[in-house]
Amino acid sequence: MNLAYLLERIARTDPLRPAIFNGPHCVATYGQWAARSAAWAQWFQAQGLVPGERVALFMRNHPRYLELMLGAWWAGLVVVPINAKLHLKEMQWIIDNAQARWAFVSADVVPDRSALSGLQGVSDVAHAPPWEEPTPAQAGAFLHPITPRAGDDTAWLFYTSGTTGRPKGVMITHRNLRTMGMGYFNDVDTIAPGDAIAYAAPMSHGAGVYAIPHLMAGARHVVPLSGGLDAAELFTLGQQVGPLSLFAAPTIVKRLVDHAEAAQVAPARCAAAFKTIVYGGAPMYAADIQRALRIMGPRFVQIFGQGESPMVGTALSRAQLQDSAHPRYAARLASVGFAQTSVRIRVTDAHGVDMPLGEVGEVLIQGDSVMAGYWRNPEATAAAIREGWLWTGDMGALDDDGLLTLKDRSKDMIISGGSNIYPREVEEVLLQAPGVAEVAVVGAPDAEWGEVVVAFCVPQPGQNLQTEALDAYCLEHIARFKRPKRYAVVDALPKNNYGKVLKTELRKRV
Ligand code: AMP
Repeated sequence: MNLAYLLERIARTDPLRPAIFNGPHCVATYGQWAARSAAWAQWFQAQGLVPGERVALFMRNHPRYLELMLGAWWAGLVVVPINAKLHLKEMQWIIDNAQARWAFVSADVVPDRSALSGLQGVSDVAHAPPWEEPTPAQAGAFLHPITPRAGDDTAWLFYTSGTTGRPKGVMITHRNLRTMGMGYFNDVDTIAPGDAIAYAAPMSHGAGVYAIPHLMAGARHVVPLSGGLDAAELFTLGQQVGPLSLFAAPTIVKRLVDHAEAAQVAPARCAAAFKTIVYGGAPMYAADIQRALRIMGPRFVQIFGQGESPMVGTALSRAQLQDSAHPRYAARLASVGFAQTSVRIRVTDAHGVDMPLGEVGEVLIQGDSVMAGYWRNPEATAAAIREGWLWTGDMGALDDDGLLTLKDRSKDMIISGGSNIYPREVEEVLLQAPGVAEVAVVGAPDAEWGEVVVAFCVPQPGQNLQTEALDAYCLEHIARFKRPKRYAVVDALPKNNYGKVLKTELRKRV
């Protein structure tokens, strides 16, 4: 069933309910949101876009994100959310791979729209829409009809970085997102109609996906004026339209807690500003969550998931995070919690045989939240989904109550500030920089970012590598956030007998 029916449902029963906020200002009621999304759908169809075709959103957080996302679904189209921090070349690669027809961009992200090719059209998201604003009377009355979609049809084509250095399109269906949305109420939190979600992290990722449960409940959707994370702004916004719920990577949680501590915000004021802070996407250290609970009070819930099963894997509830008298409290804090309602979790060896309790293996997920597969990539799909189970690439152990603790990532992925960075992608770029013979990239622990990227470079004979030149080269070819924060120029890389670089050795050095 098309997710757009969720919007139509509330727009009919409660058209005047405040829906979308730009900072503290309401910019759409549910009736207006539905009328605008229906108008977008009609316009997409007038441009010749047919169900199943792709519309890319390469934009910063913006209230129109929600109208466009639902508008695309309303017309039966597939949304391709692209992280606004990506390089234009990376964006172009995704457009080509997805064969997107139309793109909506923020002007500062794509200063020259003619630089993008292969699209039928590119629209600046800040420009006035190409249709007339529906009057309040129209909003909630006649709406252009929703194009029916099956549960297995793709709604969200999310590009994840691949270990091969090329991103893969994860096909997330209408059923996947509905399952995630319904599960939120049982595994994460309750949502009352007056509650508000704030989009403090990029809407192209998990934060945007959480629009679904808040749409189901008819809650308020708040896009901060800064478009993202400014801790002081969020505290103020929470007092104005909150209390807010939000999804945050551990780095963002840390900034909020630092702000609360530095500005001496009392727990009661934290409670007035924030209802629930859902954290996940990267490891949260036990000491950090204990400090967060101490300073901001019982408003945290942890989730573990991945692009291939968005936001749905395990959860550690508010009550479990509070229950410090529990005999296994320390183990719980160090874990990612228990399987969410709609999935089963196993930990197996490389052949899919269950590991004994407490022993580390690969984490597998099965359930209706798991992707349909990778876009036009049957080999990668067959490797990731075997006999109905998603192989997450995460290593972990289950204990006898079903608590999952992640130990390591099998793929050497670096998570910096909540964003995934695959070393190979950075290595491939640096290997093309003038004077570089060999390179190996690893993550180094970092108090602020979780991890930072460190590149070990071996110069070609007779060459002298300069950090500034390497950095400039990276800026030209990959997203800013992926480029190394530190370089080490070395004579040789440590290797094993097969000639493979020993990354474990390099990690010890950093
Ligand atoms: P993404 O596909 O971008 O959502 O990244 C998913 C990956 O982030 C997972 O496969 C894990 O390696 C990591 N991750 C997600 N949630 C958690 C969590 N709560 N704790 C530790 N790592 C996590």
